[in-house]
Amino acid sequence: MPTQRIVVLAGGIGGARFLRGLKSAVPDAGITVIGNTGDDIHLFGLKVCPDLDTVMYTLGGGIHEEQGWGRAGESFAVKEELAAYGVGPEWFGLGDRDFATHIVRTQMLGAGYPLSAVTEALCERWQPGVRLLPMSDDRVETHVLIDDPDAAAGPGAPSRKAVHFQEYWVRLRAGVPAHAIIPVGAEQAKPAPGVLEAIAAADVILFPPSNPVVSIGTVLAVPGIREAVAGASAPVVGLSPIVGDAPVRGMADKVLAAVGVESTAAAVAGHYGSGLLDGWLVDTVDAGAVETVEAAGIRCRAVPLMMTDTEATAAMAREALALAEEVRA
Ligand code: GDP
Ligand code: CA
Repeated sequence: MPTQRIVVLAGGIGGARFLRGLKSAVPDAGITVIGNTGDDIHLFGLKVCPDLDTVMYTLGGGIHEEQGWGRAGESFAVKEELAAYGVGPEWFGLGDRDFATHIVRTQMLGAGYPLSAVTEALCERWQPGVRLLPMSDDRVETHVLIDDPDAAAGPGAPSRKAVHFQEYWVRLRAGVPAHAIIPVGAEQAKPAPGVLEAIAAADVILFPPSNPVVSIGTVLAVPGIREAVAGASAPVVGLSPIVGDAPVRGMADKVLAAVGVESTAAAVAGHYGSGLLDGWLVDTVDAGAVETVEAAGIRCRAVPLMMTDTEATAAMAREALALAEEVRA
């Protein structure tokens, strides 16, 4: 049988952990990852790509396992020195080892290489065992429209402001109401080289349990990508990041609310819709959602969806591939 070509649209932690299971389930498959770059941020003059790096470090064996992001064995001397100069932000934790990645990336971008080429170069060191593509070489930055926490209280409409996604997520811990999620620059962005080709050539397209709004939603916001996935001949199967009506980790419920979607496995499937999804996996605790999802024209199964270790995650990947085969047949 020829090598199976699998395309995965991924965010950070959820996407990376799923990919580790997928690689273990189908070691011979050719896996292309289309990574979210809407979380990217410029800090201290450096370009930081949190989701691409989480995938690269996780699959390359450099991740801080318990934390799920950043480098293992990290130290924070640079951060302390910056703080001694009074230079922040102090709420974004970049370690010394991680800094090196951002320095190399920024240097290459400055020399004129596109982000896709830079990512490929960084992956030469990490050997993630997948082809890691940024969704776009163009700058896209997710902003969140919030009630201004610093606005003076008073009569009239509350004042709102847009903040960078990282400020909302990391500094404010999604603790203020979000009214809109805006992928700034997405409309003008072009898919990175190889993205549309990989989708068109795929045997299976998977949505891992990544954030449906600010990870997969941002990838799909790049003009051409949603259309390519919807029009692909390959079956498209997703795995719910919502288990028992709550995100497994993080605050996906807050950004789902901002786009008017309930935090349930069925509502997330409905948000993607049958135009995009052919199959959807929900956790066994959400077995009651199967009927609703199938009524919406999406084939659905309830299976364990907790990525407790690589074996459990590999089993999830096998279920997703089996559902894809079922849809194809
Ligand atoms: P981020 O960019 O680091 O936020 O990561 P992603 O967007 O890739 O994934 C975040 C999502 O992964 C969250 O909405 C979590 O609910 C989900 N998630 C994390 N661990 C698990 C798990 O073990 N099982 C499932 N089903 N979802 C998970
Ligand atoms: Ca992310």
